[in-house]
Amino acid sequence: MAETLFKIDLNKPMQDQEVPGHNRWHPDIPAAASTDPGTDFRIECLDWTNNQIKNDDSADDIRDIDLTPCHVLSGPIHVNGAEPGDLLVVDILDLGTPKELDEPWGYTGIFSQQNGGGFLTDVYPDAHKAIWDLRGLYASSRHIPDVQFVGIKHPGLIGCAPSADLLAKWNKREQALIDTDPDRVPPLALPPLPQNALLGTLTGSEFERAAGEAARTIPPREHGGNCDIKNLTVGSRIYFPVYVDGAKLSLGDLHFSQGDGEITFCGAIEMAGYIDLGVELIKGGMQKYGMTRPMHMPIFEMSHLEPRYSSNIVFEGIGVEDDGTQRYLSITAAYRQACLNAIEYLKTFGYTDEQAYIILGTAPIEGRVAGVVDIPNAAVSIYLPTEIFKRNILPTEVPARTRSDAQLPRSPGEPDINETHVQ
Ligand code: ZN
Repeated sequence: MAETLFKIDLNKPMQDQEVPGHNRWHPDIPAAASTDPGTDFRIECLDWTNNQIKNDDSADDIRDIDLTPCHVLSGPIHVNGAEPGDLLVVDILDLGTPKELDEPWGYTGIFSQQNGGGFLTDVYPDAHKAIWDLRGLYASSRHIPDVQFVGIKHPGLIGCAPSADLLAKWNKREQALIDTDPDRVPPLALPPLPQNALLGTLTGSEFERAAGEAARTIPPREHGGNCDIKNLTVGSRIYFPVYVDGAKLSLGDLHFSQGDGEITFCGAIEMAGYIDLGVELIKGGMQKYGMTRPMHMPIFEMSHLEPRYSSNIVFEGIGVEDDGTQRYLSITAAYRQACLNAIEYLKTFGYTDEQAYIILGTAPIEGRVAGVVDIPNAAVSIYLPTEIFKRNILPTEVPARTRSDAQLPRSPGEPDINETHVQ
């Protein structure tokens, strides 16, 4: 079995682990372990909130969550020989719930508008929670009736450390956005926050300096990070740009399943678990493969694994706000409309608003861009697999062209053998 390079005790928060991980991005966070290119290894992870969410029937923990220690990440892993300009090739070999749990579980939260929010937080401002039983391939929830689906397990968050220059660039552009509306709730972006920062084994004045600069882990950025790609499952390969010596690969925020958009914010089925990875290096790969633009990103090869759901009901949205305000080619407004249309539809089958919202965030929903050129309306569609429901969620009020009293014609008695049949 692959060597475990990062071990987790599920009963302890990240800061109390034998080798602690981190919850900010900074080039000076010391490596927790090192490995050579060409090796496979295991990494264990806590859930992204550092054990704050309980397997119970109250959403108080979601409402009162402290987001300052999030996301807790395992790593960094130093890959020997990696230098800025290289590509770190990462294969996802396996991923699962913690081996020590007899009854693995995960959770989904709708964050309160006052504490985190989510894509539809203006419509659904209160905190809610769903607990999921993770049994073999399947997820089902005692809080959401008649739904069961195959999870496409993936790391929500995986990336290499930024260089000092790249980090400074992030902080500058995100602060400029915050400055356009500094009092907004929820905020436009999250600036560096020393409170509850965990930077591996860094301490003292080194820690103080780095904690004041280190980037929050919430957004995806040029190094990867919180990419939340729902199909990034076992069998996928990632090509990460390397910005610092050793690459310093970190990851966490394991998801059992997620719908495109992860719309409730704590929106996937969040879990602790393990992931097996293999790493290789392409020297000078950034230049070789066109990662030369200022806003280049990692490149992915997606896995061949996917649940065999072939029937969908599809909802569309266009870039117009609820009050009729016309937006110009806004995919965000369009995605919002598609989600709200899907929720309204699911409500006619007995789901509550929040149950429907959580289904869209967790089940393998496909979000697709239909058009971004037909001024003024961007158009998106979301594909909801009908086979994840144990009830029929298609419209049944369609007049049938088939007859329920239909019978086969039958000729009783012996065949008339005297009759000659000419073909
Ligand atoms: Zn997550």
